[in-house]
Amino acid sequence: MKYDVLIVGAGPGGIFSAYELSQLDPSLKICVIEAGKQLNERKCPIDGVNIKNCIGCQPCSIMSGFGGAGAFSDGKYNITNDFGGTLHEYIGKEKALELMNYVDGINLSHGGSGTKLYTSIQSDFKMKCMEQDLHLLDASVRHLGTDINYVVLSNLYDELKDKVEFHFLTPAETVEQIDGGYRVVTKKGDFEGKYCIISAGRSGSKWMEKVCEDMNIPTKSNRVDIGVRVELPAAVFSHITDELYESKIVYRTQKYGDLVRTFCMNPRGSVVNENTNGIVTVNGHSFEDPAKQTDNTNFALLVAKHFTEPFKDSNGYGESIARLSNMLGGGVIIQRFGDLISGKRSTQARIDESFVVPTLKAMPGDLSLVMPKRILDGIIEMIYALDKIAPGTANYDTLLYGVEVKFYNMEVDVDSNLMTSFNNLFVIGDCSGITHSLSHASASGVHVARYIVSQK
Ligand SMILES: Cc1cc2nc3c(=O)[nH]c(=O)nc-3n(C[C@H](O)[C@H](O)[C@H](O)COP(=O)(O)OP(=O)(O)OC[C@H]3O[C@@H](n4cnc5c(N)ncnc54)[C@H](O)[C@@H]3O)c2cc1C
Repeated sequence: MKYDVLIVGAGPGGIFSAYELSQLDPSLKICVIEAGKQLNERKCPIDGVNIKNCIGCQPCSIMSGFGGAGAFSDGKYNITNDFGGTLHEYIGKEKALELMNYVDGINLSHGGSGTKLYTSIQSDFKMKCMEQDLHLLDASVRHLGTDINYVVLSNLYDELKDKVEFHFLTPAETVEQIDGGYRVVTKKGDFEGKYCIISAGRSGSKWMEKVCEDMNIPTKSNRVDIGVRVELPAAVFSHITDELYESKIVYRTQKYGDLVRTFCMNPRGSVVNENTNGIVTVNGHSFEDPAKQTDNTNFALLVAKHFTEPFKDSNGYGESIARLSNMLGGGVIIQRFGDLISGKRSTQARIDESFVVPTLKAMPGDLSLVMPKRILDGIIEMIYALDKIAPGTANYDTLLYGVEVKFYNMEVDVDSNLMTSFNNLFVIGDCSGITHSLSHASASGVHVARYIVSQK
């Protein structure tokens, strides 16, 4: 074998596998095969002037390349078993938290020191939420911010580049079991290694599905989260965000009993486009640097949709709704909450009148023509519930961007070492369906690296 360990994907899962392997055993020959570009070459062409919408670059610089989908994210590392994945179900709660804290330490020692760790554990705000039947989940959140997150990734790359062989712009096509290991086939040649770790993330979900199909690795899939991104004056949420930064609040709707939750809160941040497999959806981020902050806070409100037999394509359902918004609005649609409630389409003139200045240029429209009634009703109910703990949330000018979709990868059948039924073939991070966050994906990488070294 030319390599000891082959890693497919250089997102947090792949990076932390490579990092831990190279720390624990510097003699290991490690190769990372990545479909995207090096960090410093990743550049989305949308500049808001010449290019306003996604032009479908291949590979997409937002989702692919060193740092993975999280490279230009807000860099929120949630240290918790309450959300962000179900890694604890495989490796145990204590172990999962220990690994997330370990990852936090590495981030701090690579440029993240000085960033703030917020915590909702034992917060007075929890009780205030409960009085309104809103439920605040426990978490500690390290907020690196988009800027420091980039610095940490650059430093990690500088440290790894002499210890690990990186092949960028090299999408893996197939994975084959060979005598004593695995072969990863790419257009630039074949790579062979004793151990193979697949960490292809969300952008690699369709490819991962194909690998599982070809190798007969069992999978299951039944969830998608659909919702909107809410943008309002930062002052409305500042009593919450100043203390907790990110608060995950869950609400059960009275009308249908569906769970709606806040997700990815960005105090004084910006709303951004996200492209998944050519479909434009919405997301948000914020900077640690006060000079880059805005007057607004944004967060997503998501409704989880679980499907039962015979329907299996939950991601396809989410994609169809996002496609509808792309069809009507050419991309993301923006609407004032008041316009939505009074059954009016938002127009550019109405958006211009708004007291809340949008941070993303999106097409004014009518979200009720896009979102299924049940989901939209749930979001409206949650906005009124949030208004009781953050008065102003249900103001007429609160902006809603749609749609935000959180796709879940199908869950790959792995054991407590995150190994598939194939010996020494591991599936980690978001492409395993087990993690959905930076901290869980990174922790899964460390977990597998430690297991591999323990086997040598
Ligand atoms: C805009 C945005 C903001 C986010 N903000 C946060 C946040 O603040 N906090 C948080 O916890 N999470 C956040 N997330 C989610 C987080 O980024 C992911 O959970 C995390 O990156 C998953 O890590 P991963 O290594 O599993 O996969 P990814 O980061 O997706 O990395 C997978 C890598 O594999 C590569 N790849 C895919 N297929 C192949 C192939 N066939 N061959 C070779 N390479 C391949 C991809 O190019 C990619 O670089 C955000 C995501 C986005 C898009």
